[in-house]
Amino acid sequence: MNMNMKQIKAFGPQDLQVVVTDIPVLKADEVLVDMRACGICGSDKWFWFVNEPTDYVAGHEAAGEVVAVGSDVKQLKIGDRIAINNVKGCGLCPACQLGQFVRCPNGVTHMGFGFSEKLAVPERNCLKLDDTVSYETGSLIFDNWGTPYSAISRTSMKAGDYVVVIGCGPIGLAAVRLAKIRGAKVVAVDPNPSRREAAIRQGAEFVYPPDVSLAEEIVRFTKQHGVDIVLECSGKAPSYTLALGILRIGGTLVSIGEGAKFEFNSSDIIHKHLTVFGSLYSTMEDGQQVQRLIVSGDIEPMLFVTHQFKLDDLPAQFSKVIEYSDGLLKSIVVR
Ligand SMILES: [Zn+2]
Ligand SMILES: [Zn+2]
Repeated sequence: MNMNMKQIKAFGPQDLQVVVTDIPVLKADEVLVDMRACGICGSDKWFWFVNEPTDYVAGHEAAGEVVAVGSDVKQLKIGDRIAINNVKGCGLCPACQLGQFVRCPNGVTHMGFGFSEKLAVPERNCLKLDDTVSYETGSLIFDNWGTPYSAISRTSMKAGDYVVVIGCGPIGLAAVRLAKIRGAKVVAVDPNPSRREAAIRQGAEFVYPPDVSLAEEIVRFTKQHGVDIVLECSGKAPSYTLALGILRIGGTLVSIGEGAKFEFNSSDIIHKHLTVFGSLYSTMEDGQQVQRLIVSGDIEPMLFVTHQFKLDDLPAQFSKVIEYSDGLLKSIVVR
């Protein structure tokens, strides 16, 4: 095997370069994966804004082919097609034993390095892809679709529920579709018109830009019932004011978008008997369930993938990802 590979590295602000480096050394419980597709996530944007060269490589939505296996690998073999759950836990605790690495209390590692030709990952982090699922689609299982799937699976969402999705980036768009196939009546909120159109195509019944009269409009949509579940995918503070205003008594607010900072009055959740919880990424079980939805045709992850970039071209194209220019909704790196 060729012992070199290409990888994208960040050397400074807006300075990504293709470098040639050694292929990763395999540990006993790991497999070497030839990356075939890697989704680009909003949280990869830091890669464009570093001040000095970094060792860590962005890209955490990878799928590919197994090309070598460590001595302790039990089931995977060379040639298997897999998607990678990017979060590595201790591997020993009860959460890890259940494939819930993202809930490991002993410290988690976000493995990254997806913008590389090859990655070494633990066998337990790999989900075998169904023959009908492409690498491109497979790369979107654990984060783009697994993140909202995991969040929704912890709610009591059922047919007829009023659900509001705030923020229609790729994760919000997936949340719209997943709520729709549960039979919910979905409202989507986003300032960007092309994202609102995409939300309608994913099954939203109403879409709105965030503005002052929004709360009244949404409550009217629910026929004064109030919203059962808000899925906050934007990470913007005003979403929380909106959510607390539109949720019904006993409603649920799920925090999915990172980074909102705001003042919080506990009375707002107490008086409405709200359930509020946060949800990060997904588990191996979530990945299996998302793959089932893909195979059954209930979800089509490629529908809002607007751009695919060759690994070699990523440095020249990354500004499109940062600026959402050229109609970009979701993009994938391919080989
Ligand atoms: Zn991500
Ligand atoms: Zn653990």
